[in-house]
Amino acid sequence: MVAARPVAKTSTSLADGRALIYFDDRASHRHPEVDTRDLAVSSIDPELRFDPLQEEWVIVASHRQERTHLPPTDECPLCPSSPDHATEIPAADYDVVVFENRFPSLTPLPETASDSGLLAVAGGVGQCEVICFSSDHETSFSYLSDERLSTIADSIVDRTHELSRLPGVEYVLVFENRGSDVGVTLHHPHGQIYAYPFIPPKPRRALEAAARYRLDHDECLFCAVLDAELEDGRRIIAESENFVAYVPSAARWPYETHIQPRMHVADLADLNRDERGELLRLQADVIAAFDGLFGEAIPYLSTVFQAPAHEMRDLAHLRIELVTPRRAPGKLKYLASSESAAGAFINDVVPETAAARLRHSWPDRSSRNL
Ligand SMILES: [Zn+2]
Repeated sequence: MVAARPVAKTSTSLADGRALIYFDDRASHRHPEVDTRDLAVSSIDPELRFDPLQEEWVIVASHRQERTHLPPTDECPLCPSSPDHATEIPAADYDVVVFENRFPSLTPLPETASDSGLLAVAGGVGQCEVICFSSDHETSFSYLSDERLSTIADSIVDRTHELSRLPGVEYVLVFENRGSDVGVTLHHPHGQIYAYPFIPPKPRRALEAAARYRLDHDECLFCAVLDAELEDGRRIIAESENFVAYVPSAARWPYETHIQPRMHVADLADLNRDERGELLRLQADVIAAFDGLFGEAIPYLSTVFQAPAHEMRDLAHLRIELVTPRRAPGKLKYLASSESAAGAFINDVVPETAAARLRHSWPDRSSRNL
């Protein structure tokens, strides 16, 4: 692990007023280039509709149909700009860059009038940002250096802090989808940051379970689950000094993997820079193990769950969840009626078998294999 050094943050704005922030690996002063494109401000009015049966908000954002879909590599909007091709990033190079999504599902100033009652409607207030992990179009999260992983972690801490302070924001989710099989519209290595005006259903249910568990047992549910997994041991994939990667006992997806800190921390900001780098290295190694299983870059979803912006923070426990819909070479798990309609998952791969296979395909560069 490289020695902790301060990351350099430089803020600027794009031609249509959207914010863009450079996070550079080494502290240096950057003079941001001007975005010379002639960009119309996109008209966006996302709204929230409440589903009274599931007690969940649904985001309706129809403008997203216009967004860029799988452009050729020489038209990639996330590559650095060149004299012939102006992209979303005006610079000739960058390390990590974060900017407001041009086609957001949530926006700071929605125009929708709110409407209460059984069929409640509200403005889709929030923010959606894109985070580019590298200026190299062809790289992957699992190939990034320790230094770069630390810069990404620092940028996530910064964005989580800033977005949590926006009016109406209740939860900041950081995630990466890779592969067109999981709906990725741009191949350049990047993630997304969503600042929601509510705690999304999955983290909310986990926090509610943690609240009940604490009442009954006076301890953290997430810590207790990790202790139980460590004691059982069959589904542990890898351990580092401060973190454990394992297939959960009740994995919904083949090769579903959770990474959790051994210590009770609510979010990335609770870790020091070396610990954050260690966590993201383990995440990168899980992705390399996914690819190793099938001998190719496979589609995956990787999500960082941190504490909500305001409510239930004392119950939260930082964790990362990774899943791939790939269940066998050339075969995808589709969400069929039992999963999509009823919410009852059927997993084709026994979790203990999945963990054994992931241990076997663990990347050689790491000494953390058990
Ligand atoms: Zn690119």
